[in-house]
Amino acid sequence: MKIISGIAASNGIAIGPIFLYEEEDLSFERSRCSDSTKEMKRLNGALEKARGEIETIRDKAEAETGSDEAAIFEAHAMFLDDPALLEAVEKTIKEEQLNLESAWMDSIEMYASQMEAMEDEYFKARAADIRDVGNRILRILLGKQETDLSSMTSNAVVVARDLTPSDTVRMNKKLVLGFSTVEGGPTSHTAILAKALGLPAVVGAGSELLKHADTKKIIIDGSTGVIILDPDKKQVKEYQEKQGKEEKRSKIALEHAHEPARTRDGHTVEIVANAGGPEDAASALEHGAEGIGLLRTEFLYLDSKTAPDEETQLAAYTAVLDVMGKRPVVVRTIDVGGDKEIPYINLGREANPFLGFRAIRMCLQDPEFFKTQLRALVRASFGHDLRIMFPMIATIEEVRQAKVLLEEAKREVYKANHSIARTIQVGIMVEIPSVAILADLFAREVDFFSIGTNDLTQYTLAAERTNDRVAYLGDACHPAVLREIARVIEEAHKQKIWTGVCGELAGDPDAVPILLGLGLDEFSMAPSLIPRAKEIIREWKLKDARKAAAAVLNLHTAREVREFIHSQKP
Ligand code: PEP
Ligand code: MG
Repeated sequence: MKIISGIAASNGIAIGPIFLYEEEDLSFERSRCSDSTKEMKRLNGALEKARGEIETIRDKAEAETGSDEAAIFEAHAMFLDDPALLEAVEKTIKEEQLNLESAWMDSIEMYASQMEAMEDEYFKARAADIRDVGNRILRILLGKQETDLSSMTSNAVVVARDLTPSDTVRMNKKLVLGFSTVEGGPTSHTAILAKALGLPAVVGAGSELLKHADTKKIIIDGSTGVIILDPDKKQVKEYQEKQGKEEKRSKIALEHAHEPARTRDGHTVEIVANAGGPEDAASALEHGAEGIGLLRTEFLYLDSKTAPDEETQLAAYTAVLDVMGKRPVVVRTIDVGGDKEIPYINLGREANPFLGFRAIRMCLQDPEFFKTQLRALVRASFGHDLRIMFPMIATIEEVRQAKVLLEEAKREVYKANHSIARTIQVGIMVEIPSVAILADLFAREVDFFSIGTNDLTQYTLAAERTNDRVAYLGDACHPAVLREIARVIEEAHKQKIWTGVCGELAGDPDAVPILLGLGLDEFSMAPSLIPRAKEIIREWKLKDARKAAAAVLNLHTAREVREFIHSQKP
């Protein structure tokens, strides 16, 4: 038995077997070799095995997600039979007297970079596929097993170093009991995904986690950050009881989830959901959401092999809007970069991607790419309350430029004889301190603010959100962040615009009364957190929440803030 303490990232308890998702170590030696016949025979064996693997994945993809996904693997299989590639490998072995692993990877890299250098987006995207196939063969040559998340076949807790959004695209989420990762902080994508799925998660557990991951059973407690590997019977019983109690409590909260979030003294706030795709919209409604406060559109770009065209995007946004009817839906334009990589959008290598070329910065430099999304959004707006939000805004110029492009997109849509909603609110995410500081000026430019506390915290405390070594700094309840929020809400109200929070803080039970007391208008969170947040708001009086909020702004640390709120529980 081994107990590890990680970061509590998504509430709930999971007890079950481990599914270990290991990154493959594909390092190999570059050595000399003169027997090309022997090496080519080895290659043929690996190609044969790869064909079998790809066929299995293809069939699974077709059964689960349809023919688009399956087509990716058909292309992979075809690539294995490319005579030019095999000739290139054989030639390299003979001429440079290199071993097969080196000759194979050199040839793959040559092909992939040729593809990358092409203008056409389709061919550019093929580079990632070629590398994927290249790594598959290399893994087989090195005698390693595939640890694809899609190979999970029964219920288990996923244990991994870290999970990127693309890792999780092909995972069968119905089988996952919870997540536990070595890396990551409370706002990493594993945490966000877990909350979206209503699954427990403990992140930032450190490398000890992988050292003990060969045990049969694991318990993770997503509200305390405790991980127990190979628990004894007493612990299993104890956690099963805790699990039962939690389930009972959330059942009661769920029964009242469709009632408004009204304080005991009659103040009502709006509770909406964060969504990562159309499937979350239904879950949002089931959990009592009054709209969508943040639709992360990256899903659309991640789910396809090349940038989705206007029609594809229109269909995806319409799918969400149709579920939500007339309720407000805030759609955030693409927020690529930082921890959100999209294989075919090459942002280049940077020393500090979180401070680099990303999101709105990239969109403003590629107006045609950006306007494809804007046109799709504008078209989708007809008959709905669609609102558009720009991420990672740092300067007033960016807001103005983005608005100019939106106007252009509207004109293009009109010209093409499509209808548009009469009003489309335009807002920005407040996630860079410069915007919080100049909130009075930004408030004159937009219809609303939505505070992204995940990024606002990382930039305010200079603590990267995915780095577990500095995760202790990244508590959004830090008074510095709370003061920024207070300022943003106050300045917004002076200009008569509304403010929401769509970072993880909005659904944090300790923060809900504080945000309420600061005058927040809209709380946007993972659907699974809505019933509890509404329950908390109903327990408070606005006047007490105001007093509590004023008090925490004068505290010194995040810990003091949380302790204070615990002491104030009504
Ligand atoms: C945020 O930064 O708080 C936010 C909601 O956006 P994301 O987590 O997608 O960066
Ligand atoms: Mg953000």
